[in-house]
Amino acid sequence: MNEPASAPSPFYQSVGAYFDRAADLSSFPVGLLDQVKSCNGIYRMKFPVKDDEGNIVVIEAFRAEHSHHRLPCKGGIRFSPHVTQEETVALAALMTYKCALVGLPFGGAKGSVRIDPRAISPGFRERVTRRYTAELVKKNFIGPQTDVPAPDYGTGEQEMAWIADTYRALNFNQPDTYACVTGKPLDLHGIPGRREATGLGVYFGIKECLDRAEDMAALGLTPGVAGKRVIIQGLGNVGSHAAHFLQKNGALIVGLAELGGGLYDPAGLDLRRAQHHFRENGSLADFGAGTFVADPAQVLEMPCDILVPAALESVITPANAPRIQAKIIAEAANGPVEFAADEILTARGILVIPDLYLNAGGVTVSYFEWLKNLSHVSFDRMTTRISEQAKTQIIDAVERLTGRTLENGDRHQITAPPREVDIVHSALAETMAFAYHQIHDAWKTRDLPDLRTAAYTVALDRVCRSYLAHGIFP
Ligand code: NAD
Repeated sequence: MNEPASAPSPFYQSVGAYFDRAADLSSFPVGLLDQVKSCNGIYRMKFPVKDDEGNIVVIEAFRAEHSHHRLPCKGGIRFSPHVTQEETVALAALMTYKCALVGLPFGGAKGSVRIDPRAISPGFRERVTRRYTAELVKKNFIGPQTDVPAPDYGTGEQEMAWIADTYRALNFNQPDTYACVTGKPLDLHGIPGRREATGLGVYFGIKECLDRAEDMAALGLTPGVAGKRVIIQGLGNVGSHAAHFLQKNGALIVGLAELGGGLYDPAGLDLRRAQHHFRENGSLADFGAGTFVADPAQVLEMPCDILVPAALESVITPANAPRIQAKIIAEAANGPVEFAADEILTARGILVIPDLYLNAGGVTVSYFEWLKNLSHVSFDRMTTRISEQAKTQIIDAVERLTGRTLENGDRHQITAPPREVDIVHSALAETMAFAYHQIHDAWKTRDLPDLRTAAYTVALDRVCRSYLAHGIFP
């Protein structure tokens, strides 16, 4: 990563320190490792937008392209009043390692705009988003083959739609304009399954971890998701979907932390009702069940098996790490655990499932959306009929051979072709399972200190090899 302009934040320092710890254990040349760590390009911009009263407001924004070893670069866009250049660079670095880890052919990038999306009108948000996109176009920091943004904290499908539409308006003759951004609504060339992809990937990753009986025994836990007590921080896109899939598969959601306060109930909370209450009231206060905890940070320290931080970075620090009671911390957010806190947690025997692996589901399904946009065909269209026919033929043959017939409902269930969303979910499940297997294998066979170092090691190996394969351009 490049040197930031201001004093480095713990998050920026942590990403660098995690990289260094893995790099120290590798045998690649120091110069090459320096290159992999460096941010290849940053565009810092300021542009004017009119607010709802017609006043001119200057907006500061960034796009960091951390790595060009594969193109396009890929990474979300964050809207928050707290974004900085160094935070954007650290998030872009994580994208490089994340894409390499789960085998996606992308470099890493990240964008950020310093606004509070919850405090401004939709009209103002649209003007900011469109102008930001135009700035990116001007400097070639967006495009289907150069740099492809997606949603992140504070943004969602609506912003992605505005980005796609603006890009298309400025590049009308290009055939693949919709592939300039992912996480778009279905009606604008999105893909089913993208909305829940990160949270579902978080669930798949936690499940993989919980299925390793030996590791669970070391933590004093039984294998499997069922019955595990879970606390979730952040009820946004990632946290709410992760909570939903964990609960659907038998976990007990005992704690929720959101801005303005949290809830805790060792007997389990009604997740759907809590989410509805939060959406309606903007707060978990007065929910009427469980204990309301005014300081949401305190919820992180309550008894549970799995703590899922799904909000922002640096929420587990050396100050609260000694008080965390979870046995597993599942990093759904980017950078929730600071480097110094990570060392405390590891020393206390707490297993951390690292961000660069655990929240890779979003970019994985973004990859599918990008492929779909480039090929201009949905994943199920070419196989629907043939898959149904093949299964019908097998059942017919089995019925002829056995002389028995299936009930119509059963026959339909077996022969029904997979929908596009089923294809996306199964490919995501496979990606998360395969990547976990690889990092777990590296952790155990290379005698690495923890899963995070294993994940960085696998990612770093791949990026270094890619650079070496290309050779150094004279
Ligand atoms: P979001 O804006 O949809 O939701 C975040 C939620 O966290 C909000 O409801 C917010 O009120 C809450 N929050 C903020 N600070 C909090 C605090 N101190 N305590 C409790 N709650 C707090 O954002 P998101 O898209 O769900 O992203 C969450 C995290 O996941 C970020 O770190 C992001 O970088 C990461 N991530 C997101 C995606 C994605 O596809 N959206 C993909 C990979 C990683």
